[in-house]
Amino acid sequence: MKWYGASQRRGTLSRLAPDGKDVKAVTLYTHTFFLIEDGRSDEQKQPHYTAVGATPEEAEAMAFAVYQRAMDCNHAMQQKGPMLIECSHCGIQRRVLLPPAPPVAVTRKAERRFFNLF
Ligand SMILES: [Zn+2]
Repeated sequence: MKWYGASQRRGTLSRLAPDGKDVKAVTLYTHTFFLIEDGRSDEQKQPHYTAVGATPEEAEAMAFAVYQRAMDCNHAMQQKGPMLIECSHCGIQRRVLLPPAPPVAVTRKAERRFFNLF
């Protein structure tokens, strides 16, 4: 697989999976790629994607499929979390630093009025 303009990182994580009546720890493999933009060195701010697979090869293949899609994508980034946006087409993610939230207007619950019916 040829990765151009992307740095990669492999890792593992363990999850608990059912094993009969028990649970067992299963090791999964992650493959993360970061698209390098403007020579920025801060990986945390670059578009990235992490695939998880049962083997390192599977994780890399999944990540590579997203990478290929991302290359041809006119990203439509949508808010995914407080500090995360995600492309709804290819699935690539990017961390964002949001400006401080404006003060939330405190809305009072509408007061209930009780009328006596005659
Ligand atoms: Zn995209």
